Amino acid sequence: MKLYSTNNKDLRVSFQEAVFNSMPQDKGLYMPLEIPQLDQEFIKNIEKYSLTEIAYQIASTLLKDEIPAADLKALVEDAANFDAPVVKLNDDTFVLELFHGPSLAFKDFGARFMSRVMAYFLKDGEQLLDVLVATSGDTGGAVALGFLGVPNTRVTILFPKGKVSEVQRLQLTTNGQNIRAIAVDGTFDDCQALVKQAFADEELNAKFRLTSANSINIARLIPQTFYYFNAYAQLKRKGYKDIVFSVPSGNFGNIGAGLLAYKMGLPVHQFIAATNANDTVPRFLESGIYETKPSVQTYANAMDVGAPSNWVRIMNLFEEDRATVQKLVKAYRFTDEETLAGIKEIFEKFDYVACPHTAIAYLATKAFAEKDVAKVFLSTAHACKFPEVFPVDILAKIEMPAQVEALRNNPEIYDELGNDFEDFKGYLLGR
Ligand SMILES: *Cc1c(COP(=O)(O)O)cnc(C)c1O
Repeated sequence: MKLYSTNNKDLRVSFQEAVFNSMPQDKGLYMPLEIPQLDQEFIKNIEKYSLTEIAYQIASTLLKDEIPAADLKALVEDAANFDAPVVKLNDDTFVLELFHGPSLAFKDFGARFMSRVMAYFLKDGEQLLDVLVATSGDTGGAVALGFLGVPNTRVTILFPKGKVSEVQRLQLTTNGQNIRAIAVDGTFDDCQALVKQAFADEELNAKFRLTSANSINIARLIPQTFYYFNAYAQLKRKGYKDIVFSVPSGNFGNIGAGLLAYKMGLPVHQFIAATNANDTVPRFLESGIYETKPSVQTYANAMDVGAPSNWVRIMNLFEEDRATVQKLVKAYRFTDEETLAGIKEIFEKFDYVACPHTAIAYLATKAFAEKDVAKVFLSTAHACKFPEVFPVDILAKIEMPAQVEALRNNPEIYDELGNDFEDFKGYLLGR
């Protein structure tokens, strides 16, 4: 697989280079030069295959020239080692649960695959790979648990002190080994600014092999196609074939992967992009004007993104043809008030507890009124990661997954810093 940059169609880089760089120098995004179709016979018989078999088929279609078959198979099986079940709520409404991985969010698919791809490409005796991440909550946990124990790597996570939930904090601070966490006295934006400055710092780059693990990395996008195909297989088994996917969207990586899957041959009737008040994309699809805005804080805080970084990729997938994108992707936005009402409705109607992001995707399936289609909304995180949003009666119904109980038994270890870059630099240099 060769890749180019969305800002330079003549650039050519290998998959390995794209994985370690994350982003081209020209600040575009890496895109595959060609998007191969999944074997038609395979898609026709997809209901016969398991998640890991489907994942391997996709990975090998894309990466067979980069990683030999046996290695790729082992890598995929290790990365996608948890379920992504489609749960039926009523005759035409389903929830695709993507929170059964180690950090209880869909980002585990991307982070686990990426960490293993990086480890695979790191040759023996090569310099340690230093991963720096800023997190507002979910990304850090997925990256920490994705890289935990992965040889030749070290992860440094910056999170805003007191601004992540208890479960999120435990996922960052109880790991030890090759993972270290820093509570920054500031906001998520401060954390991100520190990481950005570190990447631009000559002395740090001379001393360390730095990499970012953010959501624009192509190795995070690819594994997110796995669960779309696998959901289709599950629904086909149940006799459904016209499928609508509703995706709670922030940076638009998740839905971008769905659209990549569509390009690879996944039969999908319709995609729905569901957002909170950060509605840059819904406004664009209505008006044709793409205008980013500063993000505003909402209950679905993992989607508080005013300038979605993967949108460029989506337009690129469809040759900038707005009409095609407008037809294939419907978009709806919801306020905090509506989100809370959605959480209550799902609970009352289906006896199901959905996290705020998931509730927004559910509301969007209702706004999309078409009949005779199977509407699948993606559940991107377990409700226990966002306890502050729930009314007490629903909160009491949230079952703590075993992973969380296990974390509570570990001591929390983290360092604390202000938002001054020189202090952070000194920390990294071990001063
Ligand atoms: C990251 C995240 C999202 C947004 O996904 P994007 O790929 O950025 O659109 C939605 N829900 C949860 C719970 C998340 O952690």
